[in-house]
Amino acid sequence: MSEDVQTLRDVIRAVGAALRRDEQYLCDLDAAVGDGDHGLTMVRCWDLVEREADRGGGASVSEILERAGRAVLTAGGGATGPLLGTALMAAAATSADAPGPDRAAAMLVAAASEVSRRGGALAGDRTRVDALAPAAVVALQAAASGAPVAEVVAVAAQVAEDAARATAEYVARVGRAARLGERALGHPDPGAVSVAIALRAAAECLRDSAKSVGEEAP
Ligand code: ADP
Ligand code: MG
Repeated sequence: MSEDVQTLRDVIRAVGAALRRDEQYLCDLDAAVGDGDHGLTMVRCWDLVEREADRGGGASVSEILERAGRAVLTAGGGATGPLLGTALMAAAATSADAPGPDRAAAMLVAAASEVSRRGGALAGDRTRVDALAPAAVVALQAAASGAPVAEVVAVAAQVAEDAARATAEYVARVGRAARLGERALGHPDPGAVSVAIALRAAAECLRDSAKSVGEEAP
């Protein structure tokens, strides 16, 4: 198995562990503004992603991401299944087989723009796009300035966390929270929070693997 495939598997497992740890929290956030299932749906979808990563069988990074995307896309799962599947497929199409800092940033950009296109949500609509889009932009900037991949994902995670927190001040224009209007104010968007959780887990995993091969950690 190539080092890149091993890193992808480690990242996928780390994201899964973080989503399981925060499953109840994500459900609670969704209970305040939607139907209370976001943590459950994310964990169910990520189980499929992990299954595809574990099947391996000599698959490349882009093949694993594509299979995972297809599995999640076809499994249903409310607003989340199709959009997470779309994000993974977009990342797969952009990943190449040796994802460095530039590719990692390009994967995030592709995921953000495809999720926005498929779901019809723009920045400020109070969805996961509010975390994904600015995270992708700073990732591009960090990669262009020569940052290593762990740092590219770490700055994306930081911006996603800040952006997810800021959604508490937004009135939703799409998704279930749109029915609540101003009553959703004060609660962050669950989808934006789960993007931030996933990026933070990915960044920590990449930082640890950079340390273990003796590279300078961010
Ligand atoms: P459901 O709304 O079907 O119960 P989830 O609870 O899993 O799905 O996910 C809710 C999240 O989905 C919201 O917090 C929001 O971030 C995201 N979301 C809803 N509609 C859209 C959309 N059109 N585009 C992008 N994300 C969306
Ligand atoms: Mg929900």
